[in-house]
Amino acid sequence: NIELAIKVVVVGNGGVGKSSMIQRYCKGIYTNDYKKTIGVDFMERQIEINGEDIRIMLWDTAGQEEFDAITKAYYRGAQACVLAFSTTDKNSFDALWDWKRKVENECGIIPMVIVQNKIDLISCAVVTQDEVKSTALKLGCHLIRTSVKEDINVVQVFRYLASQCFDV
Ligand code: GDP
Ligand code: MG
Repeated sequence: NIELAIKVVVVGNGGVGKSSMIQRYCKGIYTNDYKKTIGVDFMERQIEINGEDIRIMLWDTAGQEEFDAITKAYYRGAQACVLAFSTTDKNSFDALWDWKRKVENECGIIPMVIVQNKIDLISCAVVTQDEVKSTALKLGCHLIRTSVKEDINVVQVFRYLASQCFDV
């Protein structure tokens, strides 16, 4: 019984909800002020897809998004990636290209998904859905809209990546 496991990295500008997403997915909790840990936190969750047990391994950085030296070690060996931005932060949307390139420089071509988080704040959106869809198309990535706060679509993000990795 071979165990399937994947390392998934969650990247994107500070404040888009990466730590919250990992906490929500692995621990089932959400807070407005998740305490920042130093270094890199490891968390995991086991899921089943079509009878296959798959271990999703996630690393969270403590807000060192700007420091390339740390993130390089963080990306190493990743087999799938979440490119996250926030509905209410235009810079985080514009930065998707840079994040994709950075991850591909370290990991090559791996399954990626664009996550538009904070859709509970859609009334304050700084990008239109057409812009988001067209950018996802140009980046060649599937798009999933989430609210980590309201627990919308978070599970789907990791199921999608796992299914891409293992063709299950
Ligand atoms: P990170 O810097 O990308 O790790 O972002 P955090 O996980 O620290 O989240 C930044 C802030 O956004 C925190 O105050 C979170 O509670 C908040 N946040 C995260 N996800 C959501 C969401 O889906 N909706 C809303 N309204 N706030 C969120
Ligand atoms: Mg964080």
